[in-house]
Amino acid sequence: MSITDKAPAAPGIKDRIADLLAKTPKGLLIDGRWRDASDGATFDVENPATGEVIATLASATREDAQAAMNAAATAQESWARTPARERSEILRAAFDLVQERYDDLALLMTLEMGKPFAEAQGEVKYGGEFLRWFSEEAVRDYGRYTESPEGTLRMLVSRKPVGPCLLITPWNFPLAMATRKVAPAVAAGCTMVLKPARLTPLTSQYFAQIMIDAGLPAGVLNVVSSASAAAVSEPIMADPRLRKVSFTGSTPVGKQLMKLATDNVLRTSMELGGNGPLLVFEDADIDKAVAGAMAAKMRNMGEACTAANRLLVHESVAEEFVTKLAEKMSALTVGNGVDEGVTVGPLVEAKARDSVEEFVADAVSRGAEVVVGGARVDGPGYFYQPTLLRNVPRDARAVTEEIFGPVAPVVTFKDEDEAVELANSTEYGLASYVFTENISRGLRIGDRIEFGLMGLNVGVISNAAAPFGGVKQSGLGREGGAEGIAEYTTTQYIGIENPWGALPPSGSGTPA
Ligand code: NAD
Repeated sequence: MSITDKAPAAPGIKDRIADLLAKTPKGLLIDGRWRDASDGATFDVENPATGEVIATLASATREDAQAAMNAAATAQESWARTPARERSEILRAAFDLVQERYDDLALLMTLEMGKPFAEAQGEVKYGGEFLRWFSEEAVRDYGRYTESPEGTLRMLVSRKPVGPCLLITPWNFPLAMATRKVAPAVAAGCTMVLKPARLTPLTSQYFAQIMIDAGLPAGVLNVVSSASAAAVSEPIMADPRLRKVSFTGSTPVGKQLMKLATDNVLRTSMELGGNGPLLVFEDADIDKAVAGAMAAKMRNMGEACTAANRLLVHESVAEEFVTKLAEKMSALTVGNGVDEGVTVGPLVEAKARDSVEEFVADAVSRGAEVVVGGARVDGPGYFYQPTLLRNVPRDARAVTEEIFGPVAPVVTFKDEDEAVELANSTEYGLASYVFTENISRGLRIGDRIEFGLMGLNVGVISNAAAPFGGVKQSGLGREGGAEGIAEYTTTQYIGIENPWGALPPSGSGTPA
């Protein structure tokens, strides 16, 4: 299979891309100014659909990271005192600017990450919603004022910004992973240093300019893209003024950061890897399950932490499910995401494509059968065919590890207990999906499944208004929903003397 016979991109696209890349900031954002790295170092960003270098950015050094931390620490006090309404309106203005610059953001994501343009537009919608949601939450961060049970004290409980934060994002959702952290931090009154992924920094750079255009004061958001993640994260995490690290990425890197976080007892939010099961019971609507599997497996070329990694299907409906899924997967069009009609883009880099190839080879060597796909696609670029595997043994790496590619392994089960046992037999616990028309069964599985998120008869559940996050080694904390802002606040209690002066009569407690 080759990708060269696909319909070409719209006319004029080359000029549009050149303009867009020219206007995307390439420097480091420190204290409100875009500037070069202290030693002049740079790194290249590649288009994974073509292998071409599309931009060269400043690469932050340890000194730059320290300067960004200084800017965040200096801005913290006045930002925390800025009225919530002002913070809210900046977020709302940023939301409006994202709507105005919708296709610029989508195109940048397609160029640096590879996802098809229509999917990238979907991410702009999803990612933008965090700005709108947290603009609304910013003014509703309530505390409470109560009397102690003994009547001896008045108790004032309020939420305060936790302080300067380090935000580290992955390459697979370049806009949404940034807005999901930046928006609640802004809403709560925290300043921050954002370190985007080396492979996909352009969207974050462009988004940071949107925040400036929306009126965010200097120093509140600092952006330090870099070829070396550790050069940036280490000095910042060692700085005693940092109060929180919020990380989205792989579990091994998350664990390293948690270790570093112990020295300064930092608050941590960790959105880590997944190995999501998608369960199809014998009483499922199979067409619905197939549509759900397509969305949960194939979205973002399978490069999603919420991806349905394993398709667990009751043995009595496996044949029908595999036949219908094979039909849908065969109809997908692989190609450069800027081209018309393309539904599956490239993997993000050669290493990612090679890793997918190894997962398939391992499964096949253990007896799995390839129903659709099963091979790389000739380049340039890092393409792999949408692949459906059946009779996949439970110890195949495609079942036990996160695949992060367009490969769907089908494993069968006999009954509900076995389905739950299979679903939970992983150290991960992020997203899961259940297809059954028996709602009692669906809710029962909800009680038994060890995952932070579960879709019931639906393959896409992420929403700015919902708390997103995992259990077990998929992480700590929640992003989005009312929970999302709480991650950036700390609770303060002020005990106040009884305004009536004397202690109430008998039966009252003694102040400790
Ligand atoms: P990654 O862990 O390699 O990188 C994530 C970020 O951490 C990048 O910015 C990277 O530069 C940085 N990083 C890498 N090493 C570092 C270090 N030593 N110190 C500080 N920062 C470091 O992950 P990735 O390949 O970019 O993303 C894919 C992973 O992210 C998958 O496992 C996926 O499941 C996970 N993910 C999770 C969620 C979620 O919400 N739970 C969302 C998206 C992706």
